[in-house]
Amino acid sequence: SEVYMNGKWLPAAEATVSVFDRGFMFGDGIYEVTPFYGGKPFLLQEHLDRMSYCLKEIDLEFEKKDLKKLIFEAVDRAGLAQNDCAVYLQVTRGKAPRTHHFPQQVEPTFLMYAFAVQLEGFEDRKLTIKLSPDIRWQRCDIKSISLMANTMLNSEAIQKGHFENVLFRNNRITEGSHSSIFFIKDQKVYTHPEGPEILSGITRRFVIELCTELEIEVIEEAVSLEELSAMEGIFLTGTTTQILHVTSVFQNDRELYNSSEAGAITKKLQEAFRKKTRGL
Ligand code: PLP
Repeated sequence: SEVYMNGKWLPAAEATVSVFDRGFMFGDGIYEVTPFYGGKPFLLQEHLDRMSYCLKEIDLEFEKKDLKKLIFEAVDRAGLAQNDCAVYLQVTRGKAPRTHHFPQQVEPTFLMYAFAVQLEGFEDRKLTIKLSPDIRWQRCDIKSISLMANTMLNSEAIQKGHFENVLFRNNRITEGSHSSIFFIKDQKVYTHPEGPEILSGITRRFVIELCTELEIEVIEEAVSLEELSAMEGIFLTGTTTQILHVTSVFQNDRELYNSSEAGAITKKLQEAFRKKTRGL
């Protein structure tokens, strides 16, 4: 398959990066994953806006003319123009002699490729999650390629047979290692407020808008560990996660929460989400 790297389309095997690329040496870069449903982009501008925000936050200047066109081209070239897929975009600060401080006048390294992804059937999936302390840094609003904590945390979850590791900081539940989390109680929907403690999930924002459309009250407040067992519904959101019903929550092998079936609010949101993404 082909990737777009530094202005060229190349077979993936021929796309190489310098050992002095700051992405390779420091994890100095950001990324984005943007979905296509049956070949149609979904919330593309929102993903590009978040990418611009992250670039600005890490003081990395990157301008790509016709980026949207290139993203469509990535989907086309991968033969996915009619399929469910996603495009991965990554910008690193580029190749420079190794110094901690940001070097000046360096050409960023830009990588992009499309990949097939299973987006059908999310409404029927059932999954369990585990909880653990949020060991990430204090700028989780930046979609950094430095994902050591996230990969450690998710591996721990997978090893124990769970889909995701959901994190807490100061006793408050923040988000998953690669997903946002929502809670339902007394017909109201709760999720952690935006800020440096979470990634501003594009799906999270979209689900909040859906709630407003459906006249479901949303409260952007964190849920504490103590409040967890009183919740009536829990779901995860994300670009490829979409909206997934959580059946159990474990902490240190102890089950704190259980709900075998998705409730009315989760189902309504899933149905509305499906309509918006599929147009039917
Ligand atoms: N939180 C984290 C830490 C993530 O890595 C992701 C996505 O990968 C999300 C939340 C969900 O964000 P989005 O809905 O923009 O995919």
